[in-house]
Amino acid sequence: MKKKLPLHIKILLGMVLGLLWGLLAINLGWVDFTKDYISPLGKIFMNLLKLIAIPMIVSSIVTGIASLNDIGSLGRIGGRTIGIFLSTTVFAITIGLVLVNVFQPGKALSEEVRNKLMSANSEAGQVALSTADQVKERPVLAPLVDLFPSNIISTASDNTNMLQIVIISVIFGIAVVMINKEKSQPFIRFMDSVNEIVMKVVDLIMLIAPVAVFALLADVIIKLAGDNPELILEVLTALGAYMLVVLAALLLHMVLVYLGIVKFIVKRSPWWFLKKMRPVQLLAFSTSSSNATLPVNMENCEKELGVKEEITGFVLPLGATINMDGTSCYQAVAAVFIAQVFGMDLNLLQQLTIILTALLSSVGSAGVPGAGVVMLVIVLKSVGVPTEGVALILGVDRILDMCRTAVNVTGDAAVCCAVAKMENKLETVN
Ligand code: ASP
Repeated sequence: MKKKLPLHIKILLGMVLGLLWGLLAINLGWVDFTKDYISPLGKIFMNLLKLIAIPMIVSSIVTGIASLNDIGSLGRIGGRTIGIFLSTTVFAITIGLVLVNVFQPGKALSEEVRNKLMSANSEAGQVALSTADQVKERPVLAPLVDLFPSNIISTASDNTNMLQIVIISVIFGIAVVMINKEKSQPFIRFMDSVNEIVMKVVDLIMLIAPVAVFALLADVIIKLAGDNPELILEVLTALGAYMLVVLAALLLHMVLVYLGIVKFIVKRSPWWFLKKMRPVQLLAFSTSSSNATLPVNMENCEKELGVKEEITGFVLPLGATINMDGTSCYQAVAAVFIAQVFGMDLNLLQQLTIILTALLSSVGSAGVPGAGVVMLVIVLKSVGVPTEGVALILGVDRILDMCRTAVNVTGDAAVCCAVAKMENKLETVN
């Protein structure tokens, strides 16, 4: 019998073919055809993943909490999770800051190239600025108030409300444990069955993953090239050093922090972890969205990494919204890079301010494509770097977004395994 190709190879093939198709489309004039007939396939896949995210979070949190023997452990799990999330993010920002200060990629950019980059992306830059302004103008405690919605239906109708959904589910889960068993059993069994069904739906959605990533990659390429394909080459050359620093920082963070967590806290081999994470990372890379990757990450953590549902159900949705190490690391590099291009030297206090604001803004970034660059504006403002500077880096942002999203989801999974290990909720899977 012929051996079936593993999923990650199929996804990889889809990516390579998508890349090639995108390049051919630009050169042979198939851009409109690609936009009209290929790109929608990627969109359908993203929609399906987002569609399944909310039922998956609700059912796994409720059944997860219901299966906890003592409800007090919930506070401990929450404390551990948030503590590790915040510390890994501070690490990520520090790594980014060290590399960008050592290599100073912004100093090499000439004024001429700077002006060219700024004018090429000024419109898109304005959009990022005004979106960030709306975030900034809100009262300080508004994000806290937002966590407690007044209407379940309207909250569940918007995928950007992940954190609210987590909170509602935790409250319901606790209530389920507190009421009479006779009354709670039918609900728990119902949720259990919903959970099984959504897991199967994820399997079904993943059947089209290779074709979908083909479409997603082709779409990324034609969008990157825009109406002027020569420009992207120029932009890539001008921003090469900056991109290398971001990529090196992301890689270093992944190796030092995540593989360190796997080796020393989870006590498993880093290769085992990386091997199991391949499909999830490739999907995060292709979709640039932690939210869209969440259902696959949850399933993978349970089935491939051996984490019990009560941990994945809680840690991963929380991680997809608040734990964005890749994003914060990139924001630190980008902020200092823009300052360097404008000839500003940031002192120690300003760099410490970057640690704090990049931490907060990555917590506030949604797990959707391009969220990190919008929140970068807030980091720039906090240290007095001209915010129009975002226009400088927009040309290559999508490529970096793909990489930082892969880091974001890897971080969520590594922390999930660590919390599971500490709570004795990690099964040995080979
Ligand atoms: N796209 C990233 C994510 O979904 C967020 C960002 O950095 O833009 O994790």
